[in-house]
Amino acid sequence: MRTIAGDEVVLGVESGLFVESEVDVPELDLRHLVATSGLADSHAHIGATSVGEMVEGEVIARSIMVANLSAQLDGGVLLVADKGTRDPATLEALEIDEADRPELHMAGHILASAGGYYEGFAIEVDGPDLPAAVERACQAPATWVKLIGDWPRRGVGALPNYAEDELRSAVGVAHANGCRVAIHTAAPDTPSMAVAAGVDSIEHGLFMTQADIEMLGARAGAWVPTLAAMEGLADTLKEGSSGRRMFRDGLANVASIIGGATEAGVSVLAGTDLTVPHGDVAVEVLSLHRYGLSVADALSSATNSASDYLGSPRRLAPLSPADLVCFAVDPLSDLGTLARPAFIMRRGRIIYR
Ligand SMILES: [Zn+2]
Repeated sequence: MRTIAGDEVVLGVESGLFVESEVDVPELDLRHLVATSGLADSHAHIGATSVGEMVEGEVIARSIMVANLSAQLDGGVLLVADKGTRDPATLEALEIDEADRPELHMAGHILASAGGYYEGFAIEVDGPDLPAAVERACQAPATWVKLIGDWPRRGVGALPNYAEDELRSAVGVAHANGCRVAIHTAAPDTPSMAVAAGVDSIEHGLFMTQADIEMLGARAGAWVPTLAAMEGLADTLKEGSSGRRMFRDGLANVASIIGGATEAGVSVLAGTDLTVPHGDVAVEVLSLHRYGLSVADALSSATNSASDYLGSPRRLAPLSPADLVCFAVDPLSDLGTLARPAFIMRRGRIIYR
């Protein structure tokens, strides 16, 4: 096969891993296709299929997770970061056989201050108690902690849930317990506090500033703008409302600064966040490009940048998981081809050809 870097690669598959010579699987000649080690969705919630279902449901059924995980595989998405839930039972997705789901990096129950998220959704914890709550949230198998950084209050607008010092303490505890921290922020001011506090990944981040990008890039942090989801959310808000105006202003801000983020060292990653269906991360890749990421950076947002940032072992190389997603057209000449994989294999199991 030929990789997006133009290299010719010959690999076999044994026990779900790539090996150097052709063994165990019938020979497949994929030389007419362009190969990647799969697409990545860096902001998903596998316990639901829509925002409404996530917010209103109660216990998350395993059958819903199984269906969403297979929708991801069917789209060629072999790496997923789940950015939190209302029911920590979603962490049981990690018990599903690896060949039957994407590689998963997961946060458990989301943390927010009182009134600082959808009612009845998050574990509500105020700033002084945040470090202790973060320590509890860092229990295995979670490898991420998800905080809600800001949320609209009736008649007041969006307000930060935590102070910078409180975020800094939370990050310290998470890192000491082997977890990374992701923060939801759609309002002004919060991104600057979160970046200064050392938060690892900025989710949405509509009001990131140039200084935030430089500081986040200097420590190789991540930004998952979820632009398609933010556009979708803005469309649900009343025309002329302050909320809709905030989202529109934020999206315009993203368009003005995202182009230089990768060069500054930020891992800009593609995420679907329930507005885009599971498996359709290609939609967000096109959004990122439309807002100003180069074609190469947009492609990387759902491939190499995500694997590197999340520390995934998936590589088109011996002893890596036998994960393979091929395209008929080079994605660098047509990003739209990412929505139409021609061949999908997860852990050596062919899912689509
Ligand atoms: Zn989300």
